[in-house]
Amino acid sequence: MMNFTQLVLASHNAGKLKELQAMLGASVQLRSIGEFSSVEPEETGLSFVENAILKARNAARISGLPSLADDSGLAVDFLGGAPGIYSARYADGKGDAANNAKLLDALKDVPEAERGAQFVCVLALVRHADDPLPILCEGLWHGRILTQASGEHGFGYDPLFWVPSRDCSSAELSPSEKNLISHRARAMDLLRQRLGLI
Ligand code: IMP
Repeated sequence: MMNFTQLVLASHNAGKLKELQAMLGASVQLRSIGEFSSVEPEETGLSFVENAILKARNAARISGLPSLADDSGLAVDFLGGAPGIYSARYADGKGDAANNAKLLDALKDVPEAERGAQFVCVLALVRHADDPLPILCEGLWHGRILTQASGEHGFGYDPLFWVPSRDCSSAELSPSEKNLISHRARAMDLLRQRLGLI
């Protein structure tokens, strides 16, 4: 059984640290990589897994501590998994509204049955920078892409992501509802199991 009291989270995003800390529980303390460095590594991988491992190794190298990284995004079936690892910068860094507009345009005239998609979250935990056996946990959240935005909560592609089990978009879920069923929640549940926390 792996026993960690502290993990360095390879993210400078305070909101993400808070959300992941709440999901992980109080027995493991997440510390921000921002305590150690302000430089972010280039995400050169072609997959969520590669980028999560790359970020975790980088955080472990900088901090000298076991490190956790997440990589997430939206994979649309009709687009062969795009925008995938490029989700945040799909519309060349012009932001969420431009990303959503580009996605709607890419799926223009695509029928409902072919609009399947999943939010993806991969968590990678390395014990040290050269760990040959990272712990990898993948969370998938299946849904489909709407033909117009709906809902005010969340961020990113939430207004376009229809959640069949709730019959609404993920931007229509309250943050606490979303955090129970999202891709990040699923990946984090697996991690808690792997760490023997549940
Ligand atoms: P990050 O790596 O968690 O910052 O996410 C990368 C990008 O994927 C975000 O900028 C969003 O465009 C998209 N994304 C990831 N998770 C979500 C989500 O829960 N809702 C909406 N968009 C998401």
